[in-house]
Amino acid sequence: MVITEIFKSIQGEGTRAGLPCIFVRLTGCNLRCVWCDTEYAFHGGTKFTIDEVLRTVAAHAGSGAGRVSLVEITGGEPLLQPETPALAEKLLAAGYTVMIETSGERFVGVLPRDVIKIVDVKCPDSGEADTFDLANLDAVGPNDEIKFVIASRRDYDFAREFTSRHQLAARVRQVLFSPVFADPAGRWPGQNARELAEWILADALPVRLGLQLHKFIWDPAMKGV
Ligand code: SF4
Repeated sequence: MVITEIFKSIQGEGTRAGLPCIFVRLTGCNLRCVWCDTEYAFHGGTKFTIDEVLRTVAAHAGSGAGRVSLVEITGGEPLLQPETPALAEKLLAAGYTVMIETSGERFVGVLPRDVIKIVDVKCPDSGEADTFDLANLDAVGPNDEIKFVIASRRDYDFAREFTSRHQLAARVRQVLFSPVFADPAGRWPGQNARELAEWILADALPVRLGLQLHKFIWDPAMKGV
């Protein structure tokens, strides 16, 4: 496998936000979202065997009562690498709770059922609209989450309509609406979180507002957190 980084931090997103978590960031992505905050994972990386990944995760996890049991496989796009389902299977067998963050463009049904899938649906302002694999709607379940990253009112309207049309709230544990965080280098603006919260409240949507916790704890441009 080609790996950009493996590190321990605080889970920043979704319903497990705030929990200690070990992140395995795989190298490479076939999309180019305009607000992507992990462009450094597009190229390069280091080759690992699955067992080397497991050993590195175990070293970060520690042992005893303080062992970190949550692992997230992310990227880049982790489903581009054919060994990802086998890695997830081995992490589950080692007793970890395993999450994966994916763009929604790849079919998540290749993963073990017990992997918690956090599946994006790309909105128009991402520049990668219409990349979602609709087969994923039947491959997610009550442990999984569907996420929209929202950059504008247009994105919000798209996300609201998609959530309603496909009855997402009944399919998954949580639908997440996350505002784009402004680029620290100024290449793209952010979506105001308060404005997004007010849209959600006004429409009484069955969704959760998601903020990227790690960007409030550490410098928003910092890698490895
Ligand atoms: S899918 Fe994820 S890693 Fe790929 S370009 Fe979009 S935000 Fe970046």
